[in-house]
Formats: sequence, structure tokens, C-alpha cells
Amino acid sequence: LFPRDANDADTLLRHADHAMYRAKQRGRNRYRFFDPLRDRRLHDRLSQLERIGAAIDDGELVLYYQPKVDMRLGNVIGAEGLVRWQHPQKGLLPPGVFIPLLAGTEYQQRLDWWVLQEGLNQLQTWHDHGLDLELSLNISAHSIQHNDFIHNLDEQLHVHPGLATGVLSLEILESEALGDLEAVARVMQHCAKLGVRFALDDFGTGYSSLTYFRRLPAQVLKIDQMFVRDMLRSPDDRNIVEGVVGLAHAFRREVIAEGVESAAHGLMLLRLGCDRAQGYGIAEPMPAAQFPDWVSRYRFPALWRITADFEWSEPILNLLAMESEHRDWVASLIQALGSNPNKTPPTMEEKWCGFGRWYHAEGRRLYGTLPEFRRLEPLHHGIHDLGRTLTKASAQGRSTEAAIADIIAARDGFIIALHALQEQVLSEGVAETGPN
Ligand code: C2E
Ligand code: MG
Ligand code: MG
Repeated sequence: LFPRDANDADTLLRHADHAMYRAKQRGRNRYRFFDPLRDRRLHDRLSQLERIGAAIDDGELVLYYQPKVDMRLGNVIGAEGLVRWQHPQKGLLPPGVFIPLLAGTEYQQRLDWWVLQEGLNQLQTWHDHGLDLELSLNISAHSIQHNDFIHNLDEQLHVHPGLATGVLSLEILESEALGDLEAVARVMQHCAKLGVRFALDDFGTGYSSLTYFRRLPAQVLKIDQMFVRDMLRSPDDRNIVEGVVGLAHAFRREVIAEGVESAAHGLMLLRLGCDRAQGYGIAEPMPAAQFPDWVSRYRFPALWRITADFEWSEPILNLLAMESEHRDWVASLIQALGSNPNKTPPTMEEKWCGFGRWYHAEGRRLYGTLPEFRRLEPLHHGIHDLGRTLTKASAQGRSTEAAIADIIAARDGFIIALHALQEQVLSEGVAETGPN
């Protein structure tokens, strides 16, 4: 339409051509108008995709590694590689802001191959330095179903003949449409022959979890963090986790939980029969260079070694929830000061934060006589002091970076002290005998 769409003949003709093409695409015998907005969106998307393609080629992507541990044996078993984009202007971008754009395009495969190469190189470096780790990498269902997948994977593995079989696992999203299940199952069987294992990621969130579970020979189930995160608070989520663990055992598959945000989550998982875990309560994803050092410094929480029998009573669950409570408070403080200035900072009043409310009421009533309990008060006070200093500094526009590192260190010290109380209560059964 002239002059609405454009004011020169060439552009008008080109747009008319587009419209005709769309009319044909829709099955002919109809008319279509050229849609400038749609065109702009398509254009934007294409240039975004090209920008991501350039990022892959120019080495702007990095893999971060999040540890996976065996809580029963007490060792670090490996890591999951998680991609980030070190954007020259925008800083470190999480995968959630660029991976969804790639869905269904050839860029998805390019990313997957980059991840595979990068991950295997890193794994080789670690093995060469005597660090025996397993590595899992996230691969899109799209790539797995590509004709060349097995061939390319085999080739990649041949570049690293020193890596033992079974050290590499591929995680596929259980919520992703897998299309031809027979074909995917064949790929998985083939990969098993190459010594590559498969895990169903985010298990329990898709439309057809049980169908996938039954028909795909994936050796590992990864329980979605949504269920794990709230299991201390929600009996429903706890039942789901227990159900998935039972399912895995019945079918002799391995099971690992993600979203383990505190040692208490780990303890509950152990009691439900899930030994393997990954989550912020163990460590956040970190650059490869930090990983070996983290492994050598990591101490398993004593909570995981408690053998005493105890009930998941209300007071026990409240006590166990305090680590997450405190981590959340620190996390929202850091967010409010740094990355997300629209967030209001949490309360600085020590008696009103989640931990404070518990500490000065139920906590004091049940455990007030224990030295492990009393030790927490000055530590908690210190953290709130740091928080107040930090908010003031940030309001005056001063840099908060160093203070944030301090508060994280203080948080971790506080959590160790909190574990001592939790351990004491759980192994001595103080909750049952304490005054009521
Ligand atoms: P995922 O594979 O399920 O990875 C776990 C995500 O949860 C990671 O987020 C991790 O940082 C986060 N996480 C781990 N522990 C905790 C916890 O205790 N609490 C909370 N709240 N979160 C936790 P990330 O790195 O942002 O990745 C998000 C998703 O993006 C991944 O979910 C995966 O589906 C996808 N992704 C990441 N890297 C790659 C990749 O290299 N290739 C592909 N195709 N997808 C990837
Ligand atoms: Mg994953
Ligand atoms: Mg997941």
C-alpha cells in the first residue's frame, strides 16, 4: 500500500513480493499484506543470531563449572559445564538470555559443538593434572537428532583418547520435545557404546516425563530444582522427590538432585535415598581456573554424616530451613546493591529477618541453653552490621565490591556455625527433650 508501507518503488515491490510469498506459503488462493512489524522482528532476530554466531567464533563464550558431589561417599564426583556469554559491553550473560533465541536454528548446533569441544578440552586438562572428574554437558535435543551427531561425537572423543569411558554425560532437557523417540533411543544406545552416558535434565517438569523415562535408555535422572528447592517446606515436593528417587531405584538408574541450596537439603535427600547432589548450597558455577582449588578446599558438612534417627518434625524442619533463609537474605541484599537496583533491600533489623524471627522465638525456646545456639547471635549481629554499612556506602555511591566479598565470607562462617547447632540438635535429639 502506497504510501503507508514505503515511499520508493523498489521497496514497495520487494514488500509486495514478501506478501505474495507468505500468501503462497499459507496455501495459495488468498491475499496477505506485508507486515512491517513482523519484518522488523525477523530482521532483529536474524541480526541477534548473527551476533551470537560471531560470539562463538570470536571466543566470547565461556563454560562455568558447577560441582557435583556424592554426599554418602563424601567426594566430589565431577562437574556440569554451563555456558555464559562474556559480552564485551553487557558483561557476563547467563544462558537464559541467549540460548532460547537459538532454538530450532543451525546456531543451536554450533553452540552445542562448541560446548562439547570446550568441555572435553577442559576435562582433558584436569585429567592431565590428576583430577579425575566426570563432566556433564547440556546438549539440545535438536543436535542429538542430527544425522551427523554420532559421527561428530566419535570424532571429538578420538581427539582425547586418554579420557576413560563413562566420564562424559550429556544432559538433555526432559521438557524439550524429542520428536521421534525411537530415533533418540537409538542414538542413546549408540552413545552408550562410545562410553557416553545420558541424563534426563529437569526431570518431572515435562509433559511426558514417564514416557520419556520408560522409552529412553538414559542412565541418569536429574530431579528438577523446582521440587528440590522447596522440599524442606513443602511435603508435596518432598513426596515428589521421594517418588522420583524410588522410580530411579526401581529401574536401576542413577539419580542426582539439582537445586540443593543448603546442607539440610542434602541431608533430607540422603534420607530419601538420593546420594548425589548439585546446587548453590555446595557451590555456585565457577570459572574452570577456580575449580581445582575449590575441590582441594571443599569440606563436607558434618550434617551429612549424622546417623541418628530423627523425625522430620515441625521444629526440626524450621531449624533446617535456616540456612536457606539466611542465604536468601544475603542474596537479596547483594542483588539490591548490585545487579538489580530496583529491588528493595531486605530488612536490616536483626529481629525481623527470617532467621532473626526464628532465633528470638522458637529457636530460643527450644535450644536457648546450647552454646552452639548462643554463638550464632554475635555472628548474626556482625552480618547485619556489615549489611548496614554496605547499604549506606551504596546510597552514597561508593563502591561495594570489597564489602560484598566480606559479607559472603561472613555468611559462610555463619553457616558453618549454624551447621554445628543443627548437627548437635539432630544427633542428640535435643528437640524432643528440650523445654516446651
Ligand atoms: P540446567 O542444565 O538445569 O542447569 C542448572 C541451572 O540451575 C544453572 O543455571 C545453574 O546455575 C542453576 N543452579 C544450580 N544450582 C542451583 C541452586 O541451588 N539454586 C538455583 N536457584 N539455581 C541453581 P544456568 O547456568 O543459568 O543455566 C540455565 C539453563 O540453561 C541450564 O539449566 C540449561 O538448560 C541451559 N544451559 C546452560 N548451559 C548450556 C549449554 O552449554 N548448552 C545448552 N544447550 N544449554 C545450556
Ligand atoms: Mg543441565
Ligand atoms: Mg536442570
